[in-house]
Amino acid sequence: MIEVKNLTKCYGKHLAVDNLSFTVEKGQIYGFLGPNGAGKSTTMNIMTGYLGATKGEVLIDGHDILKEPEEAKQCIGYLPEQPPLYLEMTVMEYLRFAAELKKIPKEDMEIQIEKAMRLTRLSDVRGRLISNLSKGYKQRVGLAQAILGFPEIIILDEPTVGLDPKQIIEIRELIRKLAKEHTVILSSHILAEIREVCDYILIIARGKLVASDTPENLENSMSGTGHIEIEVRREQKEVERVLDRIDQVKRVEYTLLEDGTVRAQIEAKGSGDIRERIFHAFADQKMPLLTLKLNKSTLEEIFLELTQK
Ligand code: ADP
Ligand code: MG
Repeated sequence: MIEVKNLTKCYGKHLAVDNLSFTVEKGQIYGFLGPNGAGKSTTMNIMTGYLGATKGEVLIDGHDILKEPEEAKQCIGYLPEQPPLYLEMTVMEYLRFAAELKKIPKEDMEIQIEKAMRLTRLSDVRGRLISNLSKGYKQRVGLAQAILGFPEIIILDEPTVGLDPKQIIEIRELIRKLAKEHTVILSSHILAEIREVCDYILIIARGKLVASDTPENLENSMSGTGHIEIEVRREQKEVERVLDRIDQVKRVEYTLLEDGTVRAQIEAKGSGDIRERIFHAFADQKMPLLTLKLNKSTLEEIFLELTQK
């Protein structure tokens, strides 16, 4: 559906997007996740033909966005980070204007505008000037514009930024509804947001793709970065002596708890599960373990680790 190959973008000397490659399949919700400045908007602007790339290519349904922009753009609806709204137009005037730009046939235009307004709940404010609308409503006008023409792919850059919690929930519901018939790509710097709605996550940091998978697979594949926690009612030195003899132990952090027990957070080498090895090592020394558990990395920890390196 979308193929991005070796995409690179320099602003002067600044490398904003660094050799990015990925593909997007039909019918899923994709999330671009990355801290501010990661290159999300730049990538989306290139994918939608608003910005030229320094290197690389973007194919939309087989059409090169630069060489065949008409065909490629037909497949895409885009809500940029700062939607180009005409403040002196009413909602209806603006949507008609957007529909004309998208070359939606006259006979379909009114039906499509009604449908887009219904989905984004704008019908009641159709006659209002855009300049008089709240931030949440302005965002909905941008969204209505993006879905006009009901293109196969809908790309939304930080669609919930600046909205209140109720509006955020409404936009999320709308995104899920759209995803039933469209491929949706959205960006956010907030993990919770992406996890909530996306089937597939692309994590971007400093212009590079650092991970891409389903939320579940990301969590599972990184579980090796989790740690094992044990508690023993002994002196720290005794615990150290046992752990030092286990090859697979990479690093240990000790905490002395109030009741005099020692808690050790153990990082293992590789991704194997060494809980049994630890159990036997302590059992051999007749040192009962009060606690033995595996703390898996959360998606939060994975995200931080990947984007701060
Ligand atoms: P994101 O959307 O992930 O926050 P952007 O794509 O907006 O990231 O920006 C990526 C990097 O490129 C940032 O370091 C930003 O400062 C820089 N950048 C973005 N737009 C321009 C521009 N027009 N000129 C120069 N630098 C830019
Ligand atoms: Mg951005």
